[in-house]
Amino acid sequence: MTDPRRYCPQCAQPLAREERGGRARLVCLDAACGFVFWDNPAPVVAAIVEYGDDVVLVRNQGWPEHWYGLVTGFLEPGETPGDAVLREVREEVGLDAQLGELIGLYPFFRMNQIIIAYHVIAGPGEIRIDPIEIAAYRCVPIAQVQPWEAGTGLALRDWLRTRGYERELVPLRRA
Ligand SMILES: [Zn+2]
Repeated sequence: MTDPRRYCPQCAQPLAREERGGRARLVCLDAACGFVFWDNPAPVVAAIVEYGDDVVLVRNQGWPEHWYGLVTGFLEPGETPGDAVLREVREEVGLDAQLGELIGLYPFFRMNQIIIAYHVIAGPGEIRIDPIEIAAYRCVPIAQVQPWEAGTGLALRDWLRTRGYERELVPLRRA
């Protein structure tokens, strides 16, 4: 497949930057093709995994050692967000879970994503991470878990509020 940022995915001609709909877009200059790369955000599901008295946080492969976040993933074709989030929890930490409430929708502009965040209730069962995607996990007591300054951290903060915990967001340190 051709790179949609350089070549038209419909006719393989180079793309050029032109204004469409009030913004500069990458467009195909072949008038008969007319492709526009709209670059719309992708939906991503995220899970606040309640597991006993804890929340399960994961460190994705390639993340800094101290970064732990929510279980996240992309929807498969034909999959509802609720089914997708339960599948991701099963795949990434090996737990069957029940869908809790939808926490909210959180823009993640840097990655051009919109995060659909759910609370899920996991277990019983043992955590078994998928070593291809997940480097490590932590079970952090709900009474202590700290939300962070990012879309998924805002979701965690909002969920903690429903449990009666008012928490400040902690900055994400790169190193
Ligand atoms: Zn084209």
